Amino acid sequence: MINLISDTVTKPTPQMLDFMMKAEVGDDVFGQDPTINELESYVAEMFGKEKAIFCPSGTMTNQIAIKCHTQPLDEVICDHYSHVYQYETGGYAFNSGVAVNLIQGTNGKITAEQIEAAIKPVYDWLPISKLVVLENSCNKGGGSYYTLDEIRPITTLCKDRGLKLHLDGARLFNVLVETGENTVDIGNHFDSVSICISKGLGAPVGSLLIGDADLIKQARRYRKVMGGGMRQAGYLAAACLFALKNQRTRLKIDNDKAKEIGLLLEKQPYVKVVRPVKTNIVIFDLADGQKADPFLEKLKSKGILATAFGPETVRFVTHLDYTDEMHVEVMNVLKRM
Ligand SMILES: *Cc1c(COP(=O)(O)O)cnc(C)c1O
Repeated sequence: MINLISDTVTKPTPQMLDFMMKAEVGDDVFGQDPTINELESYVAEMFGKEKAIFCPSGTMTNQIAIKCHTQPLDEVICDHYSHVYQYETGGYAFNSGVAVNLIQGTNGKITAEQIEAAIKPVYDWLPISKLVVLENSCNKGGGSYYTLDEIRPITTLCKDRGLKLHLDGARLFNVLVETGENTVDIGNHFDSVSICISKGLGAPVGSLLIGDADLIKQARRYRKVMGGGMRQAGYLAAACLFALKNQRTRLKIDNDKAKEIGLLLEKQPYVKVVRPVKTNIVIFDLADGQKADPFLEKLKSKGILATAFGPETVRFVTHLDYTDEMHVEVMNVLKRM
């Protein structure tokens, strides 16, 4: 089977497993796992920030960030497609007691003007606007991305208005291979950044939250109370170090394959519209009258797995384990659907 369900389906390569096996480990709840400490320093420095914290998932790093930046009865401003709103089980309300103020952006992207218009005045009967969350790339937006030129006015607005700015950068590295921008510049524009190493980068587990020392000190307490304090997890951190050092620049290959799939789909009669393919995600609507489920069944019978993103919407995600041979096969199948 060719699995295009997500870029989380990758398995560690023999080289990665070998590197993991050789990791030096200790009890990270006591701060004594040398490999986790190395990963946290490496990533903090990569983004020009003081500290980072290793967590089991990107949901946890986002939830901890929201918790650190807000008080109950505050609100988070984000696009209506945001992962923090759509796919984290409503955790913003459960963990932080905050509301969301949703913006209808364009393919998951919002502007400084939209954010400014969404900031609430201060009245007893309104939640207090406290945090803005941007997602880069934006999953439900079809892998759309912000450039630094688009982020800059948002950073300025947040500074002027006393709002915190968090980046959900689960797939940030797929963006940076497109824009050529660097991680320190990204870090400079946000109060906190979350990255996932278990997506396109190909580690089995692991996300990091990056920020200043005070924020990460607080984050360590919240990680513990959420049940995310791990012990000899240096084996996992080793996989993340391996992925960051060896599997980063190749993300361009995944993006290019996704773009080829997008171009092919645009020409197919069974496709109504393909969201602009900017990174490694392809989202398209089927032509009128066609449903995603039977389409996915047919694809499956031809050896390809993908996922529905709405009743008539399909998503493909390319990744490390999606080979050139598989790509040829997928292109052939899609021409004949
Ligand atoms: C995958 C993802 C996350 C985190 O997901 P986990 O499965 O909890 O690691 C966060 N934000 C975005 C945009 C994602 O795509």
